[in-house]
Amino acid sequence: MARRVNRRKRRIRICILAAGCLAVLVLIFVILSFLFHALFPQKEAKKTEEKKEKIVLNSAKQYRKYHVDESGNVPVMMYHGIHGEILSKDTGNTGGNVDVDGYQRTADAFEKDLEMYYKKGYRMIRLNDYLDGKIDVEAGKSPIVLTFDDGLENNIRVTGVDKNGELKIDPKSAVGILEKFKKKYPDFHVTATFFITGGKFSQPKYDDKIIKWLIDHDYDVGNHTWNHPDFTELTTEQANEQVALVYDMLEEIIPGKYVNIVALPFGSPYKKDHETMPYVYDCTSEDKEYHTKCALQVAWEPDYSPYTVEFDPTFIKRIRAYDNNGTNFDIESTFQVLESTRYISDGDEKTIVVPKENKDRVDKTYKKRLKTYE
Ligand SMILES: [Zn+2]
Repeated sequence: MARRVNRRKRRIRICILAAGCLAVLVLIFVILSFLFHALFPQKEAKKTEEKKEKIVLNSAKQYRKYHVDESGNVPVMMYHGIHGEILSKDTGNTGGNVDVDGYQRTADAFEKDLEMYYKKGYRMIRLNDYLDGKIDVEAGKSPIVLTFDDGLENNIRVTGVDKNGELKIDPKSAVGILEKFKKKYPDFHVTATFFITGGKFSQPKYDDKIIKWLIDHDYDVGNHTWNHPDFTELTTEQANEQVALVYDMLEEIIPGKYVNIVALPFGSPYKKDHETMPYVYDCTSEDKEYHTKCALQVAWEPDYSPYTVEFDPTFIKRIRAYDNNGTNFDIESTFQVLESTRYISDGDEKTIVVPKENKDRVDKTYKKRLKTYE
C-alpha cells in the first residue's frame, strides 16, 4: 500500500517536472521569437512582400482569366506643368487643364490621373526599362510610363532643407504628389523620367541637388535640349550643340547616371529621316561623343509592346496627358481604347505570353521566350 502511494507521488512529481520543463521551453521560444521579430522586422516584411509579388500565371485557364497579352500596347504619358495653386473647378477650362491645350494641369487633376491608373491595374515602369524590353509587373497588371518635359519649377519645387540636409519638397508639386502615391500604394512602383533643358528646374540654389535627389529616389533624368528650339529650323551644327550641351551638363552633375534619351521639343521633327536627326542620335562636344538610344515624339496613342515587330525603341510615341471630355485622344479616351488593346502581364519577366492569334506579332528574337494560348 505504502509503496503504491510512493509510486503515485513520484508519478505526480514527474508530471509536475515535465509540465515545468514544457512551460520553460514555451517561454524561451516566445522570448526568442519576440527578439527575432524585434531585431529583423524589415527582413520579415520584405519576405512577405516578395512572396506576394511572385505570383506567376502558368496555365491557359489562368491566362484566359486575366486576358494575358504581352504583345499589347503600353501608354507613355507626357506631362509638363503641375499646378498646386489652382483647383480644376477654377481654371475656366475643361477638366484639369490650366491652359486650353492642357499642357499645364492642376495638382488635383494629376492626383485623379494617378488614382485612375492604379485602380485600372496599371503599374509604373521606367522608360529606360521599357526601351530595353524589361517589363516586370505583377500578374494581371499592365505597365505605364510617366514623363515630364521642360524642367518646370512645379515638377519638383524645393521649399528648403531640413536639419538632416534633406530637400523639402512642395507636396503640391509633381514629385510631391508622386512621393505621396509611393507611400499610399507601394506596389504602384512610382517612377518617372524628367526631361530638362539648360535651365534645369529653374531653382539655381538647389538645381544640382534636385537632379541628384531624383536619381537617388528612383526617378530618371533625360535630355530636352539646351534651349528648346524647333529642330526643323536648325542647322545640323546647331542641332548637335543643342543635344550635346545638355549631355555635358548631366555628365558633370550625375556622371553616367542619366538616361540617353532625348524628348524632342514640340515633338519636332516628326520623322526620323530629317537631316538634323542623325545629330540627335549621335552628337559630339569637344572631346566627348554621346549616343542617344531613343528620341521621344509627341503623339496621341500608346506605343507597342517591346516584344512586337512594330516596336521601334529609337523613336517612341507619347500620349499628351490632358482632358477633353473623353474625346480627341485625351487621357480618358486613350484609356478607353486601351481596355481592349493593353499589355497584360503573366507575372513572369522571363516568358512572353500572348493569345495564339497574336503570335506573329512577336519579334523573332523573342521566339525562345514565347508562350501562346487559346
Ligand atoms: Zn518641351
